[in-house]
Amino acid sequence: MSHVFHRQLSHAYPTAVAGEGAYLIDAEGRRYLDASGGAAVSCLGHSDTRVIDAIQQQVGQLAYAHSSFFTTEPMEALADFLIERAPAGFSSVYFVSGGSEAIEAALKMARQYFLERGEPGRHKLIARRQSYHGNTLGALATGGNAWRRRQFEPLLSDVSHVSPCYAYRGQAADESPEAYGERLAMELEEEIQRLGPETVMAFVAEPVVGATLGAVPAVPGYFKRVREICDRHGILLILDEVMCGMGRTGSLFAAEQEGVTADLTTIAKGLGGGYQPIGATLVSDEIRRTIAEGSGFFQHGHTYIGHATACAAALAVQRTIEERDLLARVRKLGEGLQDRLVERFGEHPHVGDIRGRGLFRGLELVAERDRKTPFDPSHKLHAAIKRTAMDAGLMCYPMGGTLDGRTGDHILLAPPFILEDAQLDEIVDKLDATLERVL
Ligand code: PLP
Repeated sequence: MSHVFHRQLSHAYPTAVAGEGAYLIDAEGRRYLDASGGAAVSCLGHSDTRVIDAIQQQVGQLAYAHSSFFTTEPMEALADFLIERAPAGFSSVYFVSGGSEAIEAALKMARQYFLERGEPGRHKLIARRQSYHGNTLGALATGGNAWRRRQFEPLLSDVSHVSPCYAYRGQAADESPEAYGERLAMELEEEIQRLGPETVMAFVAEPVVGATLGAVPAVPGYFKRVREICDRHGILLILDEVMCGMGRTGSLFAAEQEGVTADLTTIAKGLGGGYQPIGATLVSDEIRRTIAEGSGFFQHGHTYIGHATACAAALAVQRTIEERDLLARVRKLGEGLQDRLVERFGEHPHVGDIRGRGLFRGLELVAERDRKTPFDPSHKLHAAIKRTAMDAGLMCYPMGGTLDGRTGDHILLAPPFILEDAQLDEIVDKLDATLERVL
C-alpha cells in the first residue's frame, strides 16, 4: 500500500520516472505523449537542458532566501522580464508558489487597495459560474464550479456569480456574437446594481476558460464591455491567466487578444513550465502606488515568496520561449491541431464543439449532437477517457460536467510548445482510438 495520500485513493497510479521532450516515461518503460502538459503546465516539455542547467546553477549558488530578509537576483530579473513584456499599466509582480496562491494574493491586494483609498465599503466579489480559480478557500469561493464547491459550501465566503461567456451553450440561435456579449455585459451591470456599485471590489474571470469549460474564449467585444463597466463603477478587473497565460493561447497574455488590460493578472502553470512550482500576481501601478504611499506594507505573505530557484527556472523557461520564438510556433501548431481535430471529429456524433486558441484546445462531448444533450454525469465518462487514453500512451485532460446541467464532459488539450508536427497526428490518432473505445 502506498503511504501517499493520493488524489484517487482507490487507484494505482503508474510511477513516472523520466521525461523526454513531450513524453513522460513510467517505471515499466511505457511512454505517454503529454498532450495536456499535465494540467496545461509543461510548456517546454520535460527535459529542457537550459532550464535544468539554470536550476542546478542557482541551487549551487543560492537555493532560497526568505523574502522578509532579502531580495534575490533571479526574483528581480524575473519581475523585470515580466513587466517589460506585460501590457502597459503593470509595474510590479508579487511572486507565489502556484495559481491558487496567486488568486488569494490578488483578492487581498484588491481589498487592501480599497482600504488604503478610503473605500472600506468595497469588499464584494463578482465572478462567473462554471469557472475555476483554485482550491484554497478564497479561490474556491471565487470559482463557480458546482462540483468542486459542493462539499465545501459552508466554508465559502459569499461571492456573486454571473453567466460565463460560453457561446456553444449560451448564445441563442437568433443572436449574434456581439448581441450575446452585450447581453452578458448587461447581466454583469445588473448584478453590480443589485449589490450596490459602491460595495463591489472586483470582477474575476479567465480570459479563456480552462478546466471547467475546456478552452472557451469569449465572443469578440465581451471583455472590452466588461472593462468599461468595471471602470465606470470603480471596480477592479482581475483576470486569471493561471492556465491560459504565458503563451498558451499564442500571445504571452491571453487578454492581449481581447484588447483589455486588467488591474491584477494572475499567472502560474506555464510560468515555470513545471520545472519548479511558481505563480505570480501582476499588479497595476495604481494599486502598487496606493499601497506604497499608504501603509507601505502588504498584509499577506507565504514562506516561499520569490523562491530563488523557482524564479531562476521560470526566467530560463521564459527566455527560452522568447529566444526560440515559440509563440509563433504555438500559433502555427495550434492551427494545425484545430484543423486536424475538425477533420477527424468535426462530424463525430458525440463531439459537439471543438474550440480554443493556440495550443489550448477543447472538445465538448455530447450524448446527442443536435440537441447538445450532455452525457449523464454519473457515467463518469471523463474518468474512463483518461484511463483509456493513458493505456493508449496519451495524456489528455478530460473533465466531467459541472453537475448543474449547464455543461457536459469535455477534453482539454494543452501540449508543449516544442511539439513536432508529426506529434499532432499522434495526438489525434490516439484520441480517436480512445473515443472509439469509450463512446
Ligand atoms: N486558476 C485557474 C484558471 C486554474 O486553471 C487553476 C488550476 O488549474 C488555478 C487557478 C489554481 O492553480 P493551482 O492548482 O496552481 O493552485
